[in-house]
Amino acid sequence: MKVAVVKETGPAERRVALVPEAVAKLRSAGHEVLVQTGAGAGAFLPDESYSTAGATVVPAEQLAVADAILMVGKPDEQQVSRLRSGQAVLGMFAPLTDPALAERLASTGATAVSLDLVPRTLSRAQPMDALTSQSNIAGYKAALLAATAFGRFFPLLITAAGTARPAKVLVLGTGVAGLQAIGTARRLGAVVSAYDVRPETKLEVQSLGATFIELTSVGPAEGEGGYARALTDTERAAQQAELADHIASHDVVITTAQVPGRRPPLLVTGEALKSMAPGSVLVDMGASVLGGNVEGSAPGQTIVADNGITIIGADNLPSTMAAAASTMYARNISSLLLYMVKDDQFTVDMADELVAAVVITRDGKVVQPALTTSAAD
Ligand code: NAD
Repeated sequence: MKVAVVKETGPAERRVALVPEAVAKLRSAGHEVLVQTGAGAGAFLPDESYSTAGATVVPAEQLAVADAILMVGKPDEQQVSRLRSGQAVLGMFAPLTDPALAERLASTGATAVSLDLVPRTLSRAQPMDALTSQSNIAGYKAALLAATAFGRFFPLLITAAGTARPAKVLVLGTGVAGLQAIGTARRLGAVVSAYDVRPETKLEVQSLGATFIELTSVGPAEGEGGYARALTDTERAAQQAELADHIASHDVVITTAQVPGRRPPLLVTGEALKSMAPGSVLVDMGASVLGGNVEGSAPGQTIVADNGITIIGADNLPSTMAAAASTMYARNISSLLLYMVKDDQFTVDMADELVAAVVITRDGKVVQPALTTSAAD
């Protein structure tokens, strides 16, 4: 089979779908690998490193012969227009929040496979779980961004020039990214507290040396597949009000809360922001064009409010660590590709629950049932 790797076109996207090590793995499984010129540049992987691993480096238009096209983020219009029937395209297409792209991919006749739909709890899917690999990186980087923007120390520091108390860090949302942010802030010496609407994360939080905050006004809100459900308006207001006191007593707040297919829940209101001490820092990993976990945050923007609070809207943090993120993603995407190749053919077996979960378009149609759910909140 011929497998192609495109050069990413998303804004500020530095990752690449395959690293040379993964090329070698596909080559040894008997596949030919084509890599678009410059595809690895953002991750400091020169074209020669791909040639050495056994790939052929070619311009974009020569990728069309491939049976499977691999990418990280969404394709641009030119890349979509080059897709054709009989071809597979694998990437993270966020179909729940961008159903229009799914329709456009379907119109090409290609089979589109979205790694962000890999079922998290299937053990055979774990090597393919790109959401987890990339969230781990994002959580780590969020804690580092907070430490860099904070004008004081994270650890307790006793010096001849005085003693610095450790920073008090609050992590809201303790899924994969939140747990990694807790671990990173703890390793830097901060005193960390955390909250999640899924109380089953309490033990994981405590095992990382952080304190789990329990709210009395909001009950557990587990949804399907290990994710949280959206809160009702009443629950949300109660949560925001009770969280405000905790937020006011912390120096740094890192928010990671997400509900699949919906706008991220607002956890830190404008009122809560006003109660924070000057010099406090927030990193909002939920920042999106639809709004984030922190009122007024915007992806890719750092805002210093009048009261001296810094609000950092995270935007594609994995891309800022492109070498590590690409290495992990390459393992995810090559595992999924090899899983779906049978007898040297890309095979769609919809009877397999893993395959049925990730295939979003086939034979000119959108086939992912979850796409009937609206992204509205
Ligand atoms: P996510 O990115 O969807 O959400 C991040 C966190 O935000 C979640 O913990 C969620 O409960 C929390 N959240 C949502 N709304 C909230 C609110 N209003 N207030 C506070 N917190 C809120 O989550 P994720 O990191 O992708 O993890 C999702 C699930 O997948 C978890 O259950 C995780 O354990 C599971 N998972 C399992 C595996 C595995 O079994 N191999 C691997 C990865 C993840």
